[in-house]
Amino acid sequence: MNSPVPDQQDTLLIHTGRDPGAYAGYVNPPLFRGSTIIAESFEAWEKAKKTDNPYGNYGRFGSPTIRAFEAAIAELEGGYACQVFPSGLSACTHTLLALLKSGDHVLITDNVYGPTRSFADNMLGRLGIQVEYFDPKLGASIAALIRPQTRLIFLESPGSLSFEIADMPAIAKVAHASGVLVAVDNSWASPLYFKPFQHGADVSIQAATKYILGHSDALLGTVTCNKHAWEIFHPRAQMFGETAGPEDVSLALRGLRTLGVRLRQHWQSGVALAQAIKPHPAVSRVLHPALVDDPSHALWKRDFLGASGLFSFVLASEDQRVVSAFFGALKHFGIGLSWGGFESLALPVGKPKRSASSWPDQGTLIRIHAGLEAPEDLVADISDALDIAHRLAVSGEPARADRFNQWRAGSQSDHRLESPSEPLSRLRV
Ligand SMILES: *Cc1c(COP(=O)(O)O)cnc(C)c1O
Repeated sequence: MNSPVPDQQDTLLIHTGRDPGAYAGYVNPPLFRGSTIIAESFEAWEKAKKTDNPYGNYGRFGSPTIRAFEAAIAELEGGYACQVFPSGLSACTHTLLALLKSGDHVLITDNVYGPTRSFADNMLGRLGIQVEYFDPKLGASIAALIRPQTRLIFLESPGSLSFEIADMPAIAKVAHASGVLVAVDNSWASPLYFKPFQHGADVSIQAATKYILGHSDALLGTVTCNKHAWEIFHPRAQMFGETAGPEDVSLALRGLRTLGVRLRQHWQSGVALAQAIKPHPAVSRVLHPALVDDPSHALWKRDFLGASGLFSFVLASEDQRVVSAFFGALKHFGIGLSWGGFESLALPVGKPKRSASSWPDQGTLIRIHAGLEAPEDLVADISDALDIAHRLAVSGEPARADRFNQWRAGSQSDHRLESPSEPLSRLRV
């Protein structure tokens, strides 16, 4: 399972959201700009107002460029229909706003993306919606938190800083038994490596800014629903007037064509980095669900088709000089937000915010995005930076320095990647 190999989704990625026959044979859907759509006659105008017209009667309801991308995402996620939003955060917030009303109660995972949490804390309360966080480790026992007013369970799986995977089938079963909808922020796995609707989700969100666009050059989000959720979500979400620019959507369609090959490289490099740094004495824990001893590994293996290049580790030290030495020594990792682009990133997190669960680690949480550079360059770079940080952390402590030197002497061969062995044969398109 830790060995990315090409699969049939690659073929789907080439064909989805494309119709050369409709556009004079051009391989890609054209970039439609527009607000006004002119009707040929009064009768045509009246007909275009009907809801079964795929573009509505105005540019805000979408163009062929937008519809092509939405159709592709819906197909890849395995949902009924999709709506594009101008950012991933906008996709998250409009899901909450469209599905909740005053008096409702929403359960949100404690490992949710920080800005989604800020929105829930600062905006949903003002609207009279009760927000409750829950421990990301909860499965079926979330039933105890469901109230008569509960309308929605909002998951992020795995969490994009701490990588706990939710037991979505167990959660969805108890949610649906009480008429509660389940939404998931599925950005880490992308639509390729987790099929949310096969595991009980009603709504799946992508920060398309990340792997789908893939080049750190635009922001977009998507919300895909099953039929039941779409009928509730879409009429309301449309009313907010959110639109995405056709250039950005065109870039996202282009990104989709290479998503399969890019993700395999991100996956392989991410696992190589996680394995290489795990034994380092400066590192107290690695958080990556594809590692066999990770607490979420069993769920990852059961439900996911692969891993992306995003994971975290805990630098044992909290000394700011040590943290600074680590970041200062990195040559190939930029310090910055976001992920999913071609370039590697490292992000100082510190301690993630928690209110319904406790954060177990001392030390400094650092998030890594493995980009598309040569994996051995990335492994050597991060290993060197950890060495430098560790030397500073242990200076004056000979016993720990000895342990470090022993590790160093035995680790020279760890800078090479093992070649893929076990093929990935669990394709569920
Ligand atoms: C980045 C991110 C978002 C928000 O996406 P933007 O396009 O940056 O607004 C939402 N969820 C997760 C998990 C993310 O990592």
